[in-house]
Amino acid sequence: MSLLELDKVSVAYGPRTALDAVDLAVAEHETVCVLGPSGSGKSTLLRAVAGLTGISTGAVRLAGRDQAGVPAHRRGLGLMFQDHQLFPQRDVGGNIAFGLRMRRVPRDEAARRVAELLELVGLPGAERRSVAALSGGEQQRVALARALAPRPRLLMLDEPFGQLDRDLRERLVVELRQLFRTLGTTVLAVTHDQGEAFALADRVVVMRAGRVAQTGTPVEVWRRP
Ligand code: ADP
Ligand code: ADP
Repeated sequence: MSLLELDKVSVAYGPRTALDAVDLAVAEHETVCVLGPSGSGKSTLLRAVAGLTGISTGAVRLAGRDQAGVPAHRRGLGLMFQDHQLFPQRDVGGNIAFGLRMRRVPRDEAARRVAELLELVGLPGAERRSVAALSGGEQQRVALARALAPRPRLLMLDEPFGQLDRDLRERLVVELRQLFRTLGTTVLAVTHDQGEAFALADRVVVMRAGRVAQTGTPVEVWRRP
């Protein structure tokens, strides 16, 4: 079954059509990467799924349920954007636990989850470190842990490694793929980097000018560029 379905979703910013009747389905446990040049509508797609941008026509469904009128924080999504915006005044543990506290997860359960996530993202025992003192790659790992903490049914990543150097990106992508498999996470990720998309994705969706131009496994998309 598809966890996420977009049914002819269009988004317009004034006279400008950013998404033009986009159909897309993401199956449970699948990692789908949306690839495409700047301005092709990738971020708008994520924002429409998240409920951060209103859609003009069509429908977004999560687990079969139409999301019209469902506010962003009720959609059960984990979001991680390029400018991850960690809270500089909170330590690593406080950043990851932030959404859990808001969801009234008890403190000891939250602390357990934080410790577990830090293990998973390769920063064991980092709870008390200051986020300001972390490297860019470490900050991305913390942002990822924060996005995963509430156990979202769908994790959405927007250019998650945009600011990192290539070596680090390649390493993180390999680690993440393994992590998502282990956890069974369903992922919709946006990138303009073909190598990143092909390394991470079970399936690639190529966007051009607000439309889905192509979709297939990385190998299929590679063969007919
Ligand atoms: P991408 O993520 O692929 O770079 P975007 O979804 O950001 O593409 O943008 C798609 C189109 O919508 C572009 O033409 C962009 O200029 C336009 N756009 C994006 N956000 C806004 C906005 N807030 N107001 C007006 N136009 C926008
Ligand atoms: P307050 O004391 O106002 O309730 P917090 O509870 O958010 O503020 O934070 C208190 C301290 O405990 C902060 O340093 C925060 O980073 C840390 N903290 C909060 N929850 C956790 C957690 N689950 N795991 C690790 N550290 C946490």
